[in-house]
Amino acid sequence: MKAIRVREFGGPEVMRLEEIADPQVGPGQVLVKVKAVGVNPVDTYIRSGTYSIKPNVPYTPGSDAAGVIESVGAGVTRVKAGDRVYIAGTITGSYAEKTLCNESQVHPLPPQISFAQGAAINTPYATAYRALFQRAKAVAGETVFVHGASGGVGIAAVQLARAGGLRVIGTAGTEKGRALVMEQGAHHVLDHRVPDYLKQLMTLTEGHGVDVILEMLANVNLGKDLTILAHGGRVVVIGNRGTIEINPRDTMGRDAAILGMALFNVPERERASIHAALGAGLSNGTLRPVIGQELPLTDAPKAHKAVLEPGAYGKIVLVP
Ligand code: NAP
Repeated sequence: MKAIRVREFGGPEVMRLEEIADPQVGPGQVLVKVKAVGVNPVDTYIRSGTYSIKPNVPYTPGSDAAGVIESVGAGVTRVKAGDRVYIAGTITGSYAEKTLCNESQVHPLPPQISFAQGAAINTPYATAYRALFQRAKAVAGETVFVHGASGGVGIAAVQLARAGGLRVIGTAGTEKGRALVMEQGAHHVLDHRVPDYLKQLMTLTEGHGVDVILEMLANVNLGKDLTILAHGGRVVVIGNRGTIEINPRDTMGRDAAILGMALFNVPERERASIHAALGAGLSNGTLRPVIGQELPLTDAPKAHKAVLEPGAYGKIVLVP
């Protein structure tokens, strides 16, 4: 099969398409014929060699994909050959024509969800769900500020929050991105590139502030976030690319909380609960992954450059 291989850590160009042997299923495992691959910012951090997770080289990148089960190993009962699935983590990497998974890493893909959309589910939707409901414990009637709503996690968060009965305010840096955020269910959208957008936020909330912030770029925004929280407010740090100075006093009078999260920390039981909720939302139409760009698998280096550029619009997907 063809797969993208990384033989040394470095820039996007270290990813090359190679011919390698098909993985073989063992007990409790499934082999998936990949139809679309989800590209996430974390794939670029891992490839560069600067992330806390450093696979042994050579390796095939990627944790997200969708496809059809080709074969199953002994003891597999939840899925069978021919089933359409989305993948939430893999053993051999998802940037490939086939990928080997544990049975618990594949989930049914409802018929109305395309393979490209299926590749856009795992990291973005599981992260948004984890942040909103398991970390911030958001409830219907609260106001959530999705600070960076136009990308993979942001769009997922907007759809999940809207379906959950929250008032949703999002941000994006482009006109196109803001239009998308509104289309996907936000009540209001602001431009995080204009100087007074947080003033506009306070006007929208009649000076009350927001109950929950899902933060995609904490090293830029965390200090300001603490000043726009309502009493009892929670910020979940989802994305961060540097350091920042904050004033802890801003949390005190508000009884506010800053909550970190990493998807790889989610315990198995809570992970199963997340995918059960996502399955329900995909089936009932409240969750509709948005694909901004589809590229051939061989263009993985191009996708890694694009996913870090400003002007996000849903997900970037690779097609083997
Ligand atoms: P993405 O698709 O590239 O989207 C990035 C988002 O950040 C876009 O909405 C972008 O808006 C926005 N943004 C850019 N500048 C901003 C600013 N100054 N203030 C607020 N938002 C800004 O990436 P993603 O997949 O959604 O992931 C978002 C971040 O979360 C990444 O850093 C990723 O590594 C991280 N993440 C963390 C976890 C975890 O487990 N903690 C899991 C998944 C993702 P415009 O492009 O419209 O300006």
